[in-house]
Amino acid sequence: MASIPKKYRSLALVHFPVWTFCLILLWPAALEPVALHAAPRLVDYQKHLPRSFKKRLRKSTRFIVLHSTESGLTSALRTISRRGHSNYLVARNGTIYRTLDKRYRANHAGLSMWNGLRDISSHSIGIELVGYHNDPFTSAQYSSLKWLIEVMQRVYKIPDRNVLEHYRVAYGRPNRWVKRPHRGRKKDPGVFNFSRVRAGLTSKDSRNSILYDPDVRAGRLIPDPDIDIARVRLVDRGKYDEAVARQSEHVITKNITAWHIARGEYNDATTVYRFPKGTIMRGNEIRNWDRIPVGTKVYLNRERTEDIQAVTAAVPVIERGTTAFDIAGPSYKRSDTYYIFPKGTIKHGRQVRRWSRIPPGTRVLVRYNAPVALNRAARQEVRQGDTVFLVPPDEVLIAANVPDVSRLKSGTLAFTRK
Ligand SMILES: [Zn+2]
Repeated sequence: MASIPKKYRSLALVHFPVWTFCLILLWPAALEPVALHAAPRLVDYQKHLPRSFKKRLRKSTRFIVLHSTESGLTSALRTISRRGHSNYLVARNGTIYRTLDKRYRANHAGLSMWNGLRDISSHSIGIELVGYHNDPFTSAQYSSLKWLIEVMQRVYKIPDRNVLEHYRVAYGRPNRWVKRPHRGRKKDPGVFNFSRVRAGLTSKDSRNSILYDPDVRAGRLIPDPDIDIARVRLVDRGKYDEAVARQSEHVITKNITAWHIARGEYNDATTVYRFPKGTIMRGNEIRNWDRIPVGTKVYLNRERTEDIQAVTAAVPVIERGTTAFDIAGPSYKRSDTYYIFPKGTIKHGRQVRRWSRIPPGTRVLVRYNAPVALNRAARQEVRQGDTVFLVPPDEVLIAANVPDVSRLKSGTLAFTRK
């Protein structure tokens, strides 16, 4: 204080209580911004449960299990409420849907084990996040999820270490790819994608780490054979890793099998395979798993025929219940992914702001060049079968189906494949 002139010194003293008071006010805000927010919007969605669904109390409530829906909001709500597959669902905008009262057992974890205890659905609350294991969740989702977890933790006295990702508690029986009981049957909500810290799970307990697995430790299960532990360690604490997300685009390659992509659901009727020649088969129709050709695309959670059509049409279309991610995978936000809206407006992935508002009927072109006027496009390129035309005002055609390109209206735009 010695260097401060006398008149200022007294001023500082006078104001001391004022700025101390201000600091006290600001302190909790800096530490815990969410605590100052109002509770998120909660929608009771239980009336959509079928009458035949039998509500059963859980045996105990020791865990919270977190999932990603691997689909958009509409289809997730439909599937979950039809079967009572979860207690809560957190939409991309942060709205929480109560799909089944927290007291009741939701069938969300399937074949599962934690610390020797099996059937984790009978001992846990299930929370679904709308989204994918390889696509970042929104800040609104994290903030609502954090609130919901805190409430459930208080009600049931659940410590951070017992809030578990689905991939950590699920296990698989031996199959053609993995010969022993194993982790890795499920991938949601994403080893590299889901952030425990952002969900408020910050306990320093070593069992709060995604590297902790009591069943692998005890030799009851082998770890996920495809998880690169070194990488997990690097991104422990949940930093999103773009490179890993890209790797998990749903295309079969020499090294990526049906199992890598669909895991426990590889031979399920809801997993759909589109072979390079365009043939489509559901997982339960495939017999010879050694003969799946490289380049086959795999689509998950396709219950309805419309969901399949949406991603397999010559120019894929976003339908109700499907999302841009369903079609473009992690490339959905790229500047070479083009969206042609039903009225003929064009935007690329970096120009779209509200992903939840993409109207049904929007066409999606992945890895395409910026559109050029048809008369200025190179002839060779235009004749390639996968070139897409936008004929004004809003007709979308693929070159393979256009017998005579020269007869297209003037003003037609051509999108050529990269
Ligand atoms: Zn899950």
